[in-house]
Amino acid sequence: MELKPVGEDIQLIYQCPACETRHHFDLKTVQRPGQYLDCWCDTSTRLAQVTQPKFTAQYGVTTSEPITKDEPKDTDTKRLDAMKTRVASILFEQGFSGDESDTLIKEVLSRIEPRSVAELLRLALVESRNDEPIKTG
Ligand SMILES: [Zn+2]
Repeated sequence: MELKPVGEDIQLIYQCPACETRHHFDLKTVQRPGQYLDCWCDTSTRLAQVTQPKFTAQYGVTTSEPITKDEPKDTDTKRLDAMKTRVASILFEQGFSGDESDTLIKEVLSRIEPRSVAELLRLALVESRNDEPIKTG
C-alpha cells in the first residue's frame, strides 16, 4: 500500500526588511489576520494575510511541462560551447585558421554529439584529413 498524507505542515519564509534575517511561519499562523514578524533586531513588520495557499500535492501524475525541462539543455549548450572553444584553440595551435577549425567543428557537430574535448578534437582532425585534396602525380 502507498501512504498519502493526511495533512500538511507548510512553513512560509519571511525576511526581515531591516536585517534580512529569515523567519519561518506556519501557514496556519499567517492565515490569521494581524500577524507580525517580531525580529530579534527590534523590527516589527506586519505580515500580509495569506488566504489561499497554492500548495497542491498530486499523486501519480506527471505534468506535461516540467519546470526544469530546459535546464539540462542549457547546461549542454554551455558545455558544448566550452568544448568548441577549446578545440578551436587547439586546432589553431596546430596551424589551422579560425575559419578552417570552425568548418571542421561544424562538420563534426552536424553528425554526432561529442562527449568530450578529445573526441571532438579527434573527429575534427579526421575531418581535416578527409578534406585534403587527393594528391596527383
Ligand atoms: Zn531583523
